[in-house]
Amino acid sequence: AENLTVSYDDFLALDTVSIEVEPGESFGLVGESGSGKSTLLRAIAGLSPVTSGRIVLDGKPLDVRYRDKAFYRQVQMVFQDPYGSLHPRQTVDRLLQEPLAIHSVPDAERRILRALDEVGLGSSFRFRYSHQLSGGQRQRIAIARALIIEPQIMLLDEPTSALDASVQAEVLNLLEQVRRDRKLTYIMVSHDLGVVTHMCERLAVMKNGKVVERLSSADLVAGRISEDYTKNLMVAS
Ligand code: ATP
Ligand code: MG
Repeated sequence: AENLTVSYDDFLALDTVSIEVEPGESFGLVGESGSGKSTLLRAIAGLSPVTSGRIVLDGKPLDVRYRDKAFYRQVQMVFQDPYGSLHPRQTVDRLLQEPLAIHSVPDAERRILRALDEVGLGSSFRFRYSHQLSGGQRQRIAIARALIIEPQIMLLDEPTSALDASVQAEVLNLLEQVRRDRKLTYIMVSHDLGVVTHMCERLAVMKNGKVVERLSSADLVAGRISEDYTKNLMVAS
């Protein structure tokens, strides 16, 4: 992302933010509430109105004013709240068919079974309604829905913060496994420094719509971060 700016009326939610993420890397985004983390992910995913700046994938700039289907197939987002992001009255099958239909991806049967297997749920979940799933199962379906069209990049917006601690660890392990198996690139938001340092090698700290600091997880673990930026974060357990 190069100099991405998002404004809502005269409020600058994202102010010339640049981040560079390497293929296969897991990159973290932290910062206090309202600092623009979700706005940045949404801008990359084409869900926030970008005022200026650009997104470059594999050296090719994307014109953010146009919906470029080939680009958006490469970039999938998982949201914090698996209740909000999955329609409760749709079956798992239907939820998994949807992205395949949007991107005209063939071979639905095989992909659905593979995706269910990959997220550790199996075919018996296929015709359940999403309201019949636990929070952790629902988040696994949200992950399966993102993976099913085989993206390169996953944008993870607090993917485990709505889950309790043991389920959180399971879902993080799943995400890590999937990243290694599929050689995916992650950009992951979390307010939990334990989670970010576990999952990411490098991270950026945001404040008031800007990136104010860039550092490695090693720096963070060693306490080499301004206290200003950590006071609203959950410090590692
Ligand atoms: P949190 O940690 O609480 O999720 P965040 O860093 O993800 O915070 P954002 O959701 O990116 O923060 O919001 C950044 C700012 O942009 C906030 O002040 C928010 O109120 C504002 N904002 C976000 N979306 C909109 C919108 N659609 N219209 C107006 N303002 C918005
Ligand atoms: Mg957010």
